[in-house]
Amino acid sequence: MPGILARLCSTCGMGSRADKCVKCGKQTFERGTFAHLCFSCGHGSGKNHCVKCGKLATGTGMNAVICTHCDLTIKPDHCVKCGKQSNS
Ligand SMILES: [Zn+2]
Ligand SMILES: [Zn+2]
Ligand SMILES: [Zn+2]
Repeated sequence: MPGILARLCSTCGMGSRADKCVKCGKQTFERGTFAHLCFSCGHGSGKNHCVKCGKLATGTGMNAVICTHCDLTIKPDHCVKCGKQSNS
């Protein structure tokens, strides 16, 4: 299982903010990787909430991304919230 995609609400994902790494805030220039949540952080309504501010992001949100640097450090299949492997 590839894990659950982390979401951003419309405010946190506005304009170029959607392109910024949710971990370190760096601009990814569209080369980022989609951030994931583990099962426990993303289960139920968890996946519908913004990973940054916690607001409900259903419908209006976009996928959260992490930069290539953080991608190497935390791995794309690790939960962006708690750091656990998202598919375990
Ligand atoms: Zn980063
Ligand atoms: Zn938000
Ligand atoms: Zn987690």
